Amino acid sequence: MLFDPHRHERLQEKPWNSGEMESAVSSILLELDASLHDGFLSLSGDRPGHDGLASLSLYGGALGTAWSLLRLSEQTGLSLSANYREMLEPTYEHQLSRLADQDVHLGYLHGKLGQLAVLCCFDETSSRIDEFLQVSRAVIERPENELMWAAPGALLAASLLYQRTGRKELVPIIDLAIRRVFNEWKVSDESPTAIWTQVLYGKSYQLLGAAHGFAGNILSLLSAFRFLSEPQRGELIKRASETLHGSVSRDNGRVNWIQSLTFKQPNKFLLQWCHGAPGLLTCFRAFPTNEVDSLLLEAGHTVWAAGPLTKTHGFCHGNAGNGYAFLSLFERTGDEEWLDRAKAFAVHSLWQSNRAFERSGQRQLGLYDGDSGLCWFLMSCLRAEAKMPSLDFL
Ligand SMILES: [Zn+2]
Repeated sequence: MLFDPHRHERLQEKPWNSGEMESAVSSILLELDASLHDGFLSLSGDRPGHDGLASLSLYGGALGTAWSLLRLSEQTGLSLSANYREMLEPTYEHQLSRLADQDVHLGYLHGKLGQLAVLCCFDETSSRIDEFLQVSRAVIERPENELMWAAPGALLAASLLYQRTGRKELVPIIDLAIRRVFNEWKVSDESPTAIWTQVLYGKSYQLLGAAHGFAGNILSLLSAFRFLSEPQRGELIKRASETLHGSVSRDNGRVNWIQSLTFKQPNKFLLQWCHGAPGLLTCFRAFPTNEVDSLLLEAGHTVWAAGPLTKTHGFCHGNAGNGYAFLSLFERTGDEEWLDRAKAFAVHSLWQSNRAFERSGQRQLGLYDGDSGLCWFLMSCLRAEAKMPSLDFL
């Protein structure tokens, strides 16, 4: 079975309404603003009990949500209750001062590099750029070979920051990361096509999904496509297509990709952004040739047939992520059916978010696992755009 039906549920049948979605985005942003204001007070030491490590991550921390609120308020005209731009630097300094060196994660989605990328986005003087470059060099040397902690994440962060700021100092670090990512992309006993090996928590895996594996690494190389040589571009297209086709599993007209080629236990099929077809779809969104298109379409039909995830509305392992898979197919094919499917998942995701809000009384701050990611997804559906925050732009 290529997905577990118990992890999926029936789609909410409420129709899409653009006006309702726009006002939902505004009210969720205001609720996030209220929570974030409190969160920043606790981060700055005025209130006890906040987990400093979690708050350092772009993935689920307060600074990632501050970045989302600043960007989304620029786009929606919503005024925020605090000047988060001015609060970013002291909050970052304060968090670091509370942590021992060994407790500071360095990577893009789960550490210091993501926070420095946020600071560099909003810092006109770019006083943090040297620190960003220094941390990038350390991240490039790490053994995980994936987006969250290691060289592919450094490559993605530097490429997106270059797109945003045009700073020339980033080019050598992009070149260094490209060399590392290509050097680690190898044919092995486990896989006849080229793949990366991740060393995570002392064990080796060959993961295929977006968050920790092959798909995320392809995204990082595609983000730096303009910096690749002609031979590197040819190699990327050939190897990525071969591995995508060579690692797919088929059953009863459906397709998916297993978590890892070498996982012993547990190894399973998941159908969410971080592991499984949705993440492969979003990471191949900008793939420059059409040899992967028929397989991506099969994957999209599988995600739709499975129905929404029961778990959550966020985009790492929830319905916003699966909805972005449909937006990616809409962008590649121009077929409005995929946009309609994304909107159906947006309606369902909002229903899930509201249900969680009624239970807990507050919105979830995280970009990848909370309501700021949902706001981006709803906005993407309203604009019919497939680019994902922090993965396709900063
Ligand atoms: Zn996840």
